[in-house]
Amino acid sequence: MLELSTPIKFVKLVGERIAVELSKRGVETVEDLLYHLPFRYEDRLNPVPMSELRAGTMASVIGEVRGTVLLQTRSMPLFEMTVGQGLSTVKCMWFRGTYLRDKFHVGQMVALYGKLEPSRSSAGKFKMIQPQFEVLPSGGGAEAEFSMLEVGRIVPVYESLGGTTAWGAKLGSKWLRRVIWALFEELEKQQVSESASQAETLPGAMRARLSFPERLKALKAVHFPEAGTPMAELVSATTPGHRRLIFEEFFYLELGLELKRRRMREREGTAFVTNVKVREAIKQVLPFHPTAAQKRVLGEIASDMRRPQPMRRLLQGDVGSGKTIVAMQAALVAIENGYQTALMAPTEILATQHYLSARKLLGDVLSQRTGRPYRVTLLTGSLDEATKREARGRIFRGETDLAIGTHALIEDKVDFENLGLVIVDEQHRFGVQQRFRLMKKPGALDPDVLVMTATPIPRTLALTLYGDLDASVIDELPPGRTPIVTRRTTEERAEDVWGFVRKQVEAGRQAYIVYPVIEGPKHDQPELDFPQDVEPDAGEASLKAQADSSATLRNDNKKTAAGKKTRVSKAGSAKGGSVKARGTKSSIKTEKLFEPKRALRAATDMYEELRMGPLSGLRLGLLHGRLSADDKDVTMRRFQRGDLDVLIATTVIEVGVDVPNASVMVIEHAERFGLAQMHQLRGRVGRGAAKSFCVLMTGGTVSEQAEARLDAMVRTQNGFELAELDLQQRGPGEFFGTRQAGMPEFRVANLIRDRALLELAKTEATRFASEPDPAVSSEEKQAVWARLKMQWQRKYGLVEA
Ligand code: ADP
Ligand code: MG
Repeated sequence: MLELSTPIKFVKLVGERIAVELSKRGVETVEDLLYHLPFRYEDRLNPVPMSELRAGTMASVIGEVRGTVLLQTRSMPLFEMTVGQGLSTVKCMWFRGTYLRDKFHVGQMVALYGKLEPSRSSAGKFKMIQPQFEVLPSGGGAEAEFSMLEVGRIVPVYESLGGTTAWGAKLGSKWLRRVIWALFEELEKQQVSESASQAETLPGAMRARLSFPERLKALKAVHFPEAGTPMAELVSATTPGHRRLIFEEFFYLELGLELKRRRMREREGTAFVTNVKVREAIKQVLPFHPTAAQKRVLGEIASDMRRPQPMRRLLQGDVGSGKTIVAMQAALVAIENGYQTALMAPTEILATQHYLSARKLLGDVLSQRTGRPYRVTLLTGSLDEATKREARGRIFRGETDLAIGTHALIEDKVDFENLGLVIVDEQHRFGVQQRFRLMKKPGALDPDVLVMTATPIPRTLALTLYGDLDASVIDELPPGRTPIVTRRTTEERAEDVWGFVRKQVEAGRQAYIVYPVIEGPKHDQPELDFPQDVEPDAGEASLKAQADSSATLRNDNKKTAAGKKTRVSKAGSAKGGSVKARGTKSSIKTEKLFEPKRALRAATDMYEELRMGPLSGLRLGLLHGRLSADDKDVTMRRFQRGDLDVLIATTVIEVGVDVPNASVMVIEHAERFGLAQMHQLRGRVGRGAAKSFCVLMTGGTVSEQAEARLDAMVRTQNGFELAELDLQQRGPGEFFGTRQAGMPEFRVANLIRDRALLELAKTEATRFASEPDPAVSSEEKQAVWARLKMQWQRKYGLVEA
């Protein structure tokens, strides 16, 4: 009997050899194959008549082969085919198409999919370059058996699974349709037996309430949509079948997160007190009146800290919203209760800056509890061994109230005497997993954890990645800030920019000039923190835009062999005869090879150039990741003190750096930076009362995507808005810089496309976990929990804390 867990080799038409091929693509079981969903559909029941085709669109066309010819052009063989419908014809061309010579015969019916371009030679006619094609069955012979899968219906189109059958056929759409169709026939025969109910993953009552089909029915409808299913719904993955499958994935994720939240609430943590003395301690260090938002957020944190369960709170606040002081206040609550606080920052520069400002803030005041000064210790990786040992010793012996550092702080060697609170600044720069690998002495209570981020997290991501945290938002900037004036310009106008910088310096201000790389051409080492979205050339770009807007269902979240596919896509597809207008990622990466190398203006070179030329006479500093910690430190301090006018840097200054007198941020090669990065960089200015400026300078070709980023930067300073766009451009995986472990992978769902269902899933998950629903049987409940357990570990890889 076939079950969802049955190994794929037992499936009809598969067998041992193909199973090996499939397993390379992550398809091991019946279930895996059923979840290899079509990424688009062709309506071969109501095909668009050729006479109604429109230029510039992606179209699927059915027609009769009228003629073929293999042309020998000067550069390469070109295969041309004319396909007709009544009086209308479309010409198709394949470069290096020799292999297609014997593929087509006049009179055959073919289905084509590709971009329609107006024909240059005959007005009103169209051509298709390298379309995907399928020869349609003509009736009779072995092919006839499956003809109902290929014509006269909405036909699913699959991403190929690579490999070939024993008789040399590709494991492509045609093959997949047959295997999956046969699989459903087999499963349907068993429907009466238990396997159908075993395949179900959502309680019947919930399904009924939400009008979702059963799982197998949903899968079937997604693979082989019934006649009459609106194409628009198929394209947007909003058929009832799609919705059900997407919901299910989200439901299990959200249920797991809900469970985690509940477990955390059952844990024992420290119940800090916030009596008059503690409040007095907090008040005496405040250098300014907190904003209403800061007060509210501190209130939320304090009430978490009072509870005897460990705090798990995410503090979001746009750059410059004043998170640091809130963190310091939280630290004081712990310290005044006699506990240690650890503050972790993602870079040495930021850790050092926090250390200095903590010293400044706490320097002159005495602890209300001990009557002694607060003791602050810095621990970063680049300190020399002796200093580190010293610091660790003080932390271990409880001679430190506040330990500030980089990830060196969470290394195993560091033991706290009495850790009560952990604060993680700029959390998004750490791995998702890292946040809970925080030190806990055996037997000790769980420390409270406050994670802070200036990357506003779009709600969809917050619901998934951080769904197990409570969230606070500082949604207000400190008073007296004027909006930062943001302008775009090009390298050619650099002189004007330097003139402007000079003027600002003369007016007593300071400036940053940021470059994407440290050194020029030879050592081209981007210090960008995300893989470059290298831009395709113009032709490819429009094709890509087309592919995107035709809204194929290809899921960016899918990782299955995406890398491998990318590599073969150029060469391999030429042989296979079907060049796909791919989704985003693959085509872009492939293009990297063809991008002409262009020298980037680099920090060290420009430091010299500016110093000798346009900015001579000003006091310039250079800061980048390859300097020693000491050098970085010295330069940063000089800039902070105002001993330097201009800081020429890489993105090392991206996060956290706080020099209120700096009023100009120049970003060179702005086309190369991600949105989050530019937003963070811009956030380095506009921190004081003076009017501030951000100049986005481009050099070289600016792609469509980069154009959109730059526009957005000029248009808005709202971090949430920018984050949304960033998420859309890069997809959830890359959103935080690197693809990190712990990022859930979905088979059907897409965080950006399906956010409404995510919200629904969250509501339902909370409901399922908290309200005993009499309509749900206890077996169903148990089945859900069992499935959750399996999935949580296997699929989402979210490690239990
Ligand atoms: P971020 O949230 O980006 O970490 P910071 O905590 O570095 O922001 O604060 C940005 C700047 O605003 C700092 O110079 C800080 O001293 C100042 N600041 C914070 N809160 C207030 C406030 N309530 N009133 C005035 N200035 C403030
Ligand atoms: Mg900060």
